[in-house]
Amino acid sequence: MADINTKVLVLGSGPAGYTAAIYAARAALAPVLIEGLQPGGQLTITTDVENWPGDVSVLGPDLMVRMAEQARHVGVDIIADIVTAVDLSARPFVVTLDSGTRYIADTLVIATGAQARWLGLDSETRFRGFGVSACATCDGFFFRNKVVAVVGGGNTAVEEALFLTNFAAKVYLIHRRDRLRADRTNQARLFANPKIEMIWNAEVGAVEGTDMPLGVTGLDLIDASSGKLRSLAVDGLFVAIGHVPATALFAGQLTMDDEGYIVTAPDSTATSIPGVFAAGDVRDKVFRQAVTAAGMGCMAALEAERFLAHEGLAEPSERQFAA
Ligand SMILES: Cc1cc2nc3c(=O)[nH]c(=O)nc-3n(C[C@H](O)[C@H](O)[C@H](O)COP(=O)(O)OP(=O)(O)OC[C@H]3O[C@@H](n4cnc5c(N)ncnc54)[C@H](O)[C@@H]3O)c2cc1C
Repeated sequence: MADINTKVLVLGSGPAGYTAAIYAARAALAPVLIEGLQPGGQLTITTDVENWPGDVSVLGPDLMVRMAEQARHVGVDIIADIVTAVDLSARPFVVTLDSGTRYIADTLVIATGAQARWLGLDSETRFRGFGVSACATCDGFFFRNKVVAVVGGGNTAVEEALFLTNFAAKVYLIHRRDRLRADRTNQARLFANPKIEMIWNAEVGAVEGTDMPLGVTGLDLIDASSGKLRSLAVDGLFVAIGHVPATALFAGQLTMDDEGYIVTAPDSTATSIPGVFAAGDVRDKVFRQAVTAAGMGCMAALEAERFLAHEGLAEPSERQFAA
């Protein structure tokens, strides 16, 4: 199979990837975008999105279909395939897909995102987007005056619990041990908040709820030492046990932090290898929002364009936006 040359290769089809590709296409760089296993990214597994500017409310999957349409409209070549190997040892970079196709790319935008860690319960999957969430910033607003539970013991869990007190009437923080991993300042704020109640030494065994309408009504909790079951009435569950960035392909090639997130230069998407840029959740463990991912996608495309110009590789491609 013949190798395919491209100036800009975007890995991932979430908000970061699509935004990077749209900007690169409008700069006449004829980008190619590889969709990956989850076309549209994380927003395709949620329901209402109410913090995407310009839309009062939009379904996550619909928003991502619109981004794909816009990308096609400006001439992005969207490939339904998965990246299985990347060689960043020399430029141009070599990217191999599951189909066997190889792309030879002058620049790469890595936008492979991250995945929330879930508890792994069937009942959790059933109610995902209907009372079960992994993002308080995204979904906290839907729980005004309701009772919610957060699962986890690190800083993220504590911050999610504190954030949820802005909306919820009561917040339980469920942790399977008898102490939190979160830092002391966060713990002090947590314990001082009258809306938060700790449930120690407990694990969620199942999420209970109704079918019509689909929604959460409670949790089955398992006591970690006695194994005894108890029920807890809640309207929502926030799982805050961490995220896993999709960076295994780049291990040993790009500088990453101790959690596997790609490290970029300050105020930039530039990685440790010139010509390779990283945008969105794959390099961001702080904000994790569609709009911040899109913003970084824009930055990555502009930086790729400047890099190509600097290297004398930026002349417009024949395959470009013709409108
Ligand atoms: C349930 C849920 C609800 C959310 N709600 C909101 C919300 O209301 N508002 C908000 O702003 N944010 C929300 N978020 C967060 C938001 O979805 C993410 O911050 C955003 O999607 C990150 O975008 P991204 O482009 O960096 O990566 P992702 O959306 O994670 O996309 C990653 C892309 O990379 C691709 N990929 C991965 N590996 C490979 C590979 N080997 N080869 C090729 N492609 C690959 C995947 O197929 C995917 O297309 C929510 C997240 C979840 C999980």
